[in-house]
Amino acid sequence: MPADPVAKWEEFLRSRYWDDLLELADSYPDERSLKIRFSDIDKFDPDFAEELMENPEQSLEAARAAMLELDLPMDVYMDRAHVRIAELPRHFKTRELRSDHIGKLLAIDGLVRTATEVRPKIVSAAFQCQRCGFTFFKEQTGNKFEDQNLKCMNQACDRGGPFKLMLAQSKFVDAQKIRVQESPEELRGGQQPQTLDVELEDDLAGKIFPGDRVIVNGILKSYQRNNPQQGKSTYFDLVHKGISVEMKDQEFEEIDITKEDEEMIQEMSRDPEIYENIRKSIAPSIYGYEDVKEALALQLVSGFEKNLPDGARIRGDIHILLVGDPGIAKSQLLRYMIKISPRGIYTSGKSSTSAGLTATAVKDELGDGRWTIEAGALVLADKGIAAIDEMDKMNNEDKSALHEAMEQQTISVAKAGVMATLKSRCSLLAAANPKLGRFDKYEPIAPQINLTPALMSRFDLIFVLTDDPDTKRDTAIANHILKSNYAGELVTQKAWNTDISQDDIDNALTVIMPAIEPELLRKYVAYSRKNIFPTLTDEAKEYFLKYYVGLRTQGQDSNKPVPVTARQLEALIRLGEASARLRLSDKVTLADAQRVVKILEACLRKVGVDPETGFLDADIIASGTTKSTRDRTKSVIDIIRDVSRESQGPASRDAVLDRAEELGIERAKAEEIIDRMRRDGDVFEPRPGMLKLP
Ligand code: ADP
Ligand code: MG
Repeated sequence: MPADPVAKWEEFLRSRYWDDLLELADSYPDERSLKIRFSDIDKFDPDFAEELMENPEQSLEAARAAMLELDLPMDVYMDRAHVRIAELPRHFKTRELRSDHIGKLLAIDGLVRTATEVRPKIVSAAFQCQRCGFTFFKEQTGNKFEDQNLKCMNQACDRGGPFKLMLAQSKFVDAQKIRVQESPEELRGGQQPQTLDVELEDDLAGKIFPGDRVIVNGILKSYQRNNPQQGKSTYFDLVHKGISVEMKDQEFEEIDITKEDEEMIQEMSRDPEIYENIRKSIAPSIYGYEDVKEALALQLVSGFEKNLPDGARIRGDIHILLVGDPGIAKSQLLRYMIKISPRGIYTSGKSSTSAGLTATAVKDELGDGRWTIEAGALVLADKGIAAIDEMDKMNNEDKSALHEAMEQQTISVAKAGVMATLKSRCSLLAAANPKLGRFDKYEPIAPQINLTPALMSRFDLIFVLTDDPDTKRDTAIANHILKSNYAGELVTQKAWNTDISQDDIDNALTVIMPAIEPELLRKYVAYSRKNIFPTLTDEAKEYFLKYYVGLRTQGQDSNKPVPVTARQLEALIRLGEASARLRLSDKVTLADAQRVVKILEACLRKVGVDPETGFLDADIIASGTTKSTRDRTKSVIDIIRDVSRESQGPASRDAVLDRAEELGIERAKAEEIIDRMRRDGDVFEPRPGMLKLP
């Protein structure tokens, strides 16, 4: 400690932060924080800075005293102002905190998982002595309210109560607790993120939301666990008392791109094969799926968000759904994407966290029994990729929340009086199994997917992956799997088997070597997303327009289905932008447009083709039935109505089937339609063999 810390602080503030102080005094009490960069103190006097780190509480107390003592030219007394130290040199992950750190000033990096509502906290309690009427103040510094063993401060009285708490005279401060979790990108394979509770007071409270990435500078404190049954424990819990908070909202800023990296990235982008190279770098251990991998490459960079002058917002993130038979590497693809995406979170639809996929209000000890908001995967993946495996197994609450998350890219929580809207600007990569476990290839695909049409239509691309035995392809996959496993075996054995040379390993590894190292690919993607914002060229616009209008005109003839909706046009634009971004170009060219139309068309064909007519049908995705089925259903309804009218009562099933056959609807098909209508409640069977419309 310097001999007179207050004087030292005065000297520091006067010489380095005078202007900031004047500015603060000007806007006080609306503004109450004097933000000081740690490096300025360090430059001023390294020992003094060290002292601040080691004994922050005393030092900050002195800083406040100094601030009040300085003679400012205006007439304000800033007793509610705070000295907020920021940009600390020592950053920690929660898992690195040890008992030595208690009481020190340090920075914690992480992701806000939960935040309580802002509530008043008493800092100075006014007590009135009920014997003499004197009112005195008791400072409340800890977490526990101190009202025991008080003595009246009136010298003449000096008795032990009773006292009455005077709320009107007591002083309160806004307070909020947040729970910070280690960022997923900093965790190494399989580590569980650890959390730390943080207390924020006064003007720091209420500015942080679940899903925010933050650096909290503060003093690490501990408090004793208290168990009502067993009394005080010898174990202590940690809590970080926030001094200042820095937001890390800069996208991908956690990825360091050096000057050399940048040159390398530029160089890579000039390679005419760049598009291919990136595609080949996605999950090289998985054989095939060229089309899926191409789409995944586009998803990595995605389009970009546009905010229109009228307040509308168009999302740039590309959402992709993989539906397919089991055991065809869907989960593997998801995991790989999370590994190379700058911010990726992997969850399963069966997710066990209470926050699930989106967000929820929970009641836990963080909020002292009050409701707090906890962020789920989609919020935590803000500005990254959220991979949801086994999406079909999601609970319905999460499914409906997904609608908002995918289109508006926000998540609203309204539960138990807690209301909040959180951001979830992420690309969704989802995998699902068909309804009955496997696809029945003789049935239309869309109804076999266990997701609502509303949800499906929000995906830009839906890939249907069927596992049909095909000797040539099976052999190729088998060879690939055998080779990659062999490479893995060699790497493992090398540790003790000296007969294996590095050459052998390199040879074996060539099959699964990505064209671009994952680390470099991450940087490439981050660079592109940060710097490249392409525009559509006239040729690309024209091409999209022609394609879109061409498909729509197919729907003008009322006998043919409406093939695409405006959603698909937006998808095309996003995909086109992504295609340009992949080669760091600021122009979406005709070639980009053609490429992405091809991808979208292939997807639409697989999910959206009516197997009977061969027409592309957006309704299959949007409503789950084909136009031909809908048309036939309408005819059957007409027949039932006609027959009922004729017989003046319920229609006989046989008569309906006969009539349908006359009109050219196969008996079996008509039976199927009637059965479906009965299941859906569109027709009743009041007596066996009799049909009645509702
Ligand atoms: P899913 O999630 O589709 O049910 P998984 O991702 O769990 O399937 O894959 C099952 C296993 O089969 C994985 O170990 C995967 O590596 C392997 N596999 C399946 N298809 C391929 C393929 N085309 N190339 C390489 N491995 C494959
Ligand atoms: Mg799986």
